[in-house]
Amino acid sequence: GNRTASINGDNMLVAVRMRPLSMKELQSGQRSCCEVMGDKIVAITKAKKPGAVLKSEMGSVNEYQFDEAFDANVPQYEVYQRTAKRLIPSVLEGFNVTVFAYGATGAGKTHTMMGSERMDAERATGAENGNTGVCGIIPLTLMDIFAGMKQKQAEATLPEEKWSLSVSYLEVYNEKIRDLLEPSGINLPVQEDPKAGIVGVGGLAAKSAESSEQVMELLRFGNTNRRTHATDANATSSRSHAVLQIIMKQRWNNSKGREVTRESRVNLIDLAGSERAGKTNNRGKRLQEGANINRSLLALANCINALAQGNTRKNAKYRDSKLTHLLKSSLEGQCKLIIIANINPSDDMFEDSHNTLKYANRAKCM
Ligand code: ADP
Ligand code: MG
Repeated sequence: GNRTASINGDNMLVAVRMRPLSMKELQSGQRSCCEVMGDKIVAITKAKKPGAVLKSEMGSVNEYQFDEAFDANVPQYEVYQRTAKRLIPSVLEGFNVTVFAYGATGAGKTHTMMGSERMDAERATGAENGNTGVCGIIPLTLMDIFAGMKQKQAEATLPEEKWSLSVSYLEVYNEKIRDLLEPSGINLPVQEDPKAGIVGVGGLAAKSAESSEQVMELLRFGNTNRRTHATDANATSSRSHAVLQIIMKQRWNNSKGREVTRESRVNLIDLAGSERAGKTNNRGKRLQEGANINRSLLALANCINALAQGNTRKNAKYRDSKLTHLLKSSLEGQCKLIIIANINPSDDMFEDSHNTLKYANRAKCM
């Protein structure tokens, strides 16, 4: 089929990506409990005994169908082509677009969104030859948006027509919003402007950028400002949602010489690890973090369901969490969204992976 066509009629796409078992997992005897069949179906098997091989030791199999399912060997560019790339025309037409990476810690969210550092280094050697094989969805989306804007600018016919792009980068940690590009220690507020029908984060920095590389530079800087845990940096980033907002602006002068602007937003979101949502054996601070992650992921599911049913106004409770509240303008009305649920296929991760498949399945329809 035509993989790069814009999403037909629908405003939502739910995809699942299974990562390969790592060398370490293979060496420690982990087996895969997940299988991608074709390009839409994921099967997950609950082993009766850990490491079961015999059919008699296997438990029940559950199959789920999604818009797209990616096997462990599907490369980064193909994941992009079958998901976010399909929305690039919509972005250039002025739609708001949101892409979420969902899944437990270690399931591949950051790899899917950003790409991996080691792989970035490999890419640097081939980038000038158009070798983008290891970039994740964020750099690939940026490259296409900049290319699209350049073309729009070259074809511009309106008086004083100018296309520009700026980015904001924030973290939601424990129901507090922190600016990662201009860190201030302040918990930024979500502000509603009912007249304009816009919801935004008050005081959030927006930095203009002219290339994908410039944005990636800002992201790297922003990541150094993410809240770090005393002993384990990854442990903390797994408890916060990282939200990159790309704001594309087209401005021109109308027949009276007045400035007119049209804006579209692309939100690219690396969600907090979904495993916290199910864990009850946490105490104190961890328990509070877990409860807040649970709350935002549940609120997100509810808003997505309301959107899927087409009744955005009445039923969606955006104010239930900071994440859904700040995304309100992008989750309602004429928006488009993609969820990429990531799973680690290890037997050990059965519960987390199964929960992720159920979450993604629930987002799809209800
Ligand atoms: P998360 O952000 O969900 O915690 P990561 O993206 O950091 O997970 O992935 C965990 C590890 O698995 C990383 O070392 C990453 O490079 C690797 N990984 C994830 N997805 C893939 C993939 N599709 N192919 C190869 N390696 C992957
Ligand atoms: Mg991560």
